[in-house]
Amino acid sequence: MTVERDQFASDNTAPICPEAWAALQEANADYAAAYGEDRWTARACDQIREIFETDCDVFFVFTGTAANALALAQMCQSFHGIMCHQNAHIQTDECGGPEFFTGGSKLLLVGGGNGKIDIGQAKALLMRQNELHSHKPGVISIAQATEFGTVYTRDEITAITELAHANELFVHMDGARFANAIASLNCAPRIMTWELGVDVLCFGGTKNGTAAGELVIFFNKKISREFDYRVKQAGQLGSKMRLLAAPWLGLLANDTWLQNARHANRAARQLAQNLQSEANVEIVFPVEANAVFARLDDQLAQCLQARGWRFYKFIEPDVYRLMCSWATTEGDIGDFIRDVTLNH
Ligand SMILES: *Cc1c(COP(=O)(O)O)cnc(C)c1O
Repeated sequence: MTVERDQFASDNTAPICPEAWAALQEANADYAAAYGEDRWTARACDQIREIFETDCDVFFVFTGTAANALALAQMCQSFHGIMCHQNAHIQTDECGGPEFFTGGSKLLLVGGGNGKIDIGQAKALLMRQNELHSHKPGVISIAQATEFGTVYTRDEITAITELAHANELFVHMDGARFANAIASLNCAPRIMTWELGVDVLCFGGTKNGTAAGELVIFFNKKISREFDYRVKQAGQLGSKMRLLAAPWLGLLANDTWLQNARHANRAARQLAQNLQSEANVEIVFPVEANAVFARLDDQLAQCLQARGWRFYKFIEPDVYRLMCSWATTEGDIGDFIRDVTLNH
């Protein structure tokens, strides 16, 4: 029987990291107040405000899909449109969650290379807006890091937030892999978010090392009003919230979130380098975070899958995604490369 090897299938195949696990265990030792009235939740929110160096409003939900959909619902009227990249997770992987929770908003798709919104195409879309007859653009949503493992630079985000503000749009950032982006850019989180005019950030913990639990962070506190009710109505208010919050304390202490992300990013760079140099495999997008998109012929992909390696085709006909995480080891990379070269 072949052993299933899920190491590169996604960054959410990884276990809970030791720091998050220890913090969870500590919070599990005794009774505590429910629904977020506990000290772990308060501390985690305070630490987020410290790390972002601003007085933002912070909420916990269980999944990234809930974070995005509820944040966007909070930022939009039902007749608003949400501009996003055509390969955005909110477009391709959330089963219409944003449309459902906004109660009528439409995703307005923008193209652009390497998974990033092309500013010229975004401007053209705004110019085409057909007054009363089509959805009124209300939000621009960008993913940082992107679905293709690339990272927006400060200048690229600035161009988007300036366009948004010139057109009275809010800016949403899907940060399911925000840690990987900050590790890659090596800068203070405020520099890539509220200082540039990002209104709401969905900050992911799951792919960084928790079991579950994502943050919705409102830098623009004017739009957080009654968000707690929206979270509750959506069934996303954890009653044992301390058990969502405590693992975040494990991530946030001693920069564990950044160390986990740096490790994952480094592993992805190494995997990409070895695929190129040892197996002559083409890498399709710049490896700026923890994803490697590799062009593999079908026969090679099938051989690898037959040897137990799990990973997904992302772009037809032959581009596959390999994800690294805090837990990826040099041994994992070596084993994978050996199987690639054996079957090449
Ligand atoms: C993983 C991911 C999410 C959240 O997904 P869930 O499975 O709902 O937690 C959101 N955005 C991006 C870009 C992602 O990669």
